[in-house]
Amino acid sequence: MILPVVKYGSPVLRQKGAKIESVTPEVKKLIADMFETMNENHGVGLAAQQVGVAKQLTVIDVREVKDRPSWAEVGGRATDVNDLMPLVLINPEVTSAGDPVKGSEGCLSFPEIYAEISRAEAVDVTALDAEGKAISFRCGGLLARAVQHETDHLNGILFIDRMEKKVKLELQPELDDLQAQTKAELKKK
Ligand code: ZN
Repeated sequence: MILPVVKYGSPVLRQKGAKIESVTPEVKKLIADMFETMNENHGVGLAAQQVGVAKQLTVIDVREVKDRPSWAEVGGRATDVNDLMPLVLINPEVTSAGDPVKGSEGCLSFPEIYAEISRAEAVDVTALDAEGKAISFRCGGLLARAVQHETDHLNGILFIDRMEKKVKLELQPELDDLQAQTKAELKKK
């Protein structure tokens, strides 16, 4: 089922996600719906908060992006990124494993808004997968960027919080418009 994507201005985007204790049928259904919603919107990642659920769950798939490379290692050995896709991360822990690099980012909760964001080129990730099994890997490139962007969402952090002051100031009128529009829509409900 395709779910509505929550936009900037909705309070759930600022909520820290609750830990998922076990992968129940409800969680599995949410995962399937999140993939469907992400694919429909041509996204690379989607966090549970973006469909209105404050839980530590995100889905990622970088396979559609051909012009921005990713790499991954499992147990210290290079692995095919595609083997990790589609990626489900439950209760992820992410630590930096590389220097910061700038790269363009967008977010399905901020339609038409893009900015250069500085993030670690590589990260180490531990999480539970869609079956509730513990996984760990190191990744870099676009995948590392997506993992950091989505893990931020799970903690109520948005990419506008990572923008350089000057960039955010330039975007402020658009951000204010979007926020006002979302709040007006929420009031109607
Ligand atoms: Zn986002």
